[in-house]
Amino acid sequence: MNKNLPEINVGVVGHIDHGKTTLLGKLTGKFTDTHSEELRRGITIKLGYTEITIYKCGSIFTNKDTFEGKTCTPLRYVSFIDAPGHEMLMATMLSGAAIIDAAILVVAANEGIKPQTREHFIALQAKGIKNVIIVQNKIDLVSKEESLKNYKDIKNFLKGTFAENAPIIPVSAQQEINLDKIFEELAKIEIPHRDSKADPIFMVARSFDINRPGTPVSELHGGVLGGILKKGTLHVGEEIEIKPGMNVKKPHGKTEYKTLTAKILSMQKGNESFEEVGPGISLSIETSLDPFLTKADFLTGCMVSTKGKLPEITHTIKLKSKFFGETFGLKDQKKIEPIKTKELLMLSINTTITVGVVEKISGDEIELSLNIPVVTLKGDKAGIARNIDGHWRLIGFGEIL
Ligand code: GDP
Ligand code: MG
Repeated sequence: MNKNLPEINVGVVGHIDHGKTTLLGKLTGKFTDTHSEELRRGITIKLGYTEITIYKCGSIFTNKDTFEGKTCTPLRYVSFIDAPGHEMLMATMLSGAAIIDAAILVVAANEGIKPQTREHFIALQAKGIKNVIIVQNKIDLVSKEESLKNYKDIKNFLKGTFAENAPIIPVSAQQEINLDKIFEELAKIEIPHRDSKADPIFMVARSFDINRPGTPVSELHGGVLGGILKKGTLHVGEEIEIKPGMNVKKPHGKTEYKTLTAKILSMQKGNESFEEVGPGISLSIETSLDPFLTKADFLTGCMVSTKGKLPEITHTIKLKSKFFGETFGLKDQKKIEPIKTKELLMLSINTTITVGVVEKISGDEIELSLNIPVVTLKGDKAGIARNIDGHWRLIGFGEIL
């Protein structure tokens, strides 16, 4: 990996079955639906990760370093996050949206704008993601007229929004039509400014145990944290703090969290190891933690920094909130009734998901007491969801005060 190339994180979002995972597979050569339940049900359940380098060869943009015998020029690294489109997995999509810089919104030309197209789009807007590429997928399934009509529908949908001028690329992921146009648009996205001198903030989006069963204790790898370094710089050998950390069950069923501390043993981006890493694409950190603590995403949602830099774990938060007029994620849009005290809401803050009770409402400020404590920074954006007919539906957004 060339350290001097710019890096960008791109989320692939949109309604279920519109072809997100297929498209990503064609763009990167990696199929991200790898968990057994995903394979069995044929849908994406967890966030998927994969990355490529984009190259330019003459006027062609590609993910290969040679083209027709000529060497291509590397332009940038793109790390992708594949989001589930199923309506019940909105919270997972929101944690994905917390760690991306730009997005590809996939709309199947034969189905058009669907509830999760709308809901994911509004989530991007609320998380402040400005760069969106619209992929009009499955054009192999529609006539020219239908494709044109669908294009106009998408244009109408975008009209007056932050993505009014977003590129719309007609694609067949399955038949690999126009993928080079997507590479070209990906190469154009403005690279966000990232502060490598600030105190480090690393958001854990997944955590795992990389050891094969039966590995001798002396050869065991430490627990691994995967996620995004939002700012600051981390070094191998450094002591880190992980909050809220480990869930410890106390007698009487009470749950408390214990901050964990560990040493960074190694860091990987793409397939390469680094001694020092600044903010950029998805990063894996091997820590001195017992791998038992990191297996099966146990530490997903945690925040990591060097020792003493993180705020306290809190059970109460205050938000400046903004609610939509109606829901976006349902077939029949429903009016959103005002929130009430003692109402239960789900919050998605950075890569964490928590549930809390509304304690106080004053104007657009709401105070909640949380079942699962969080670590937040002032200004962090929160997705607010309400349980409507048994599903958590996005009803608004907030900013941590
Ligand atoms: P996701 O839920 O958005 O991730 O959708 P998948 O990638 O799992 O695709 C859903 C279905 O659509 C699968 O059966 C794919 O083979 C199919 N599919 C994806 N892209 C295309 C395409 O461009 N053309 C056609 N005809 N089918 C596609
Ligand atoms: Mg999928």
